[in-house]
Amino acid sequence: MTDAEKKELNSHPWTFSTAPFRIAGNLYFVGNRDVGAYLIDTEEGLVLIDSTYPSTAPLLIQSIADLGFSARDVRHLIHTHGHFDHFGCTGFVKALSGCTTYLGRRDAEMFVRDPSLILAGDCGIRDFGPFVPDVLLDGGETIRSGSTEIEVVATPGHSDGCMSFFFYVEEDGIRYRCGLFGGAGFNTLKDGFIAIHGNTWSRGEYLQTLDRLAGEKVDITLGNHTSQARMLEKHAEAVRVGSCLPFVDREEFGRFIGERRERFHAEFG
Ligand SMILES: [Zn+2]
Repeated sequence: MTDAEKKELNSHPWTFSTAPFRIAGNLYFVGNRDVGAYLIDTEEGLVLIDSTYPSTAPLLIQSIADLGFSARDVRHLIHTHGHFDHFGCTGFVKALSGCTTYLGRRDAEMFVRDPSLILAGDCGIRDFGPFVPDVLLDGGETIRSGSTEIEVVATPGHSDGCMSFFFYVEEDGIRYRCGLFGGAGFNTLKDGFIAIHGNTWSRGEYLQTLDRLAGEKVDITLGNHTSQARMLEKHAEAVRVGSCLPFVDREEFGRFIGERRERFHAEFG
């Protein structure tokens, strides 16, 4: 994101607004133009994956309402990682719903060790801090709500406690495996960042994460940031053809991991 966009996000967050939509089955997109957030409507209430920026709280709440749901009915709020653009509205949603919040253990430890690592300061926000998660994730867990089972995989690198999620949705009698890589950005792997924060292990862990994810069989790839999986373009196509099939691409997840690996080596050797 450019400095101009960061400024715009703080001063005119509504310019990042985009209408929410159903992806497939009981899975919905409730993020904005920059960052993804996903709602799963289960028999035991709503599951929300990531809560977007603090400044975009009204957009998130409105998106959930526009789909006919209420943020008061969120039961589980699961985070990909502990950067403020993914947990910015978490305190607000928690206050509304009393939901259980989940975060990678190592990111919760990061909150205590060095709160500047939530990266709010990078966006010019000085007065926003971390939250206290209810459940700490190590990877290997299954989070259940109704018949939905979300597989949690530890994928450190972009942040120490970054988690990726895999789960099934069903549409027209067909089950699709959804995959969300919890943090793909290189910003925390750059020389300047490591020089300040000392996370010398992160690049090695990121490569191990790519190895770990390369074999995942995914039908529907979800973007941790909206453009990473072209969520809005696919939605436009889905509307045009009247089907969820534009979201289904069994090669995309592996292709994305391969592209990250190529770019990683181009940038870091
Ligand atoms: Zn991040």
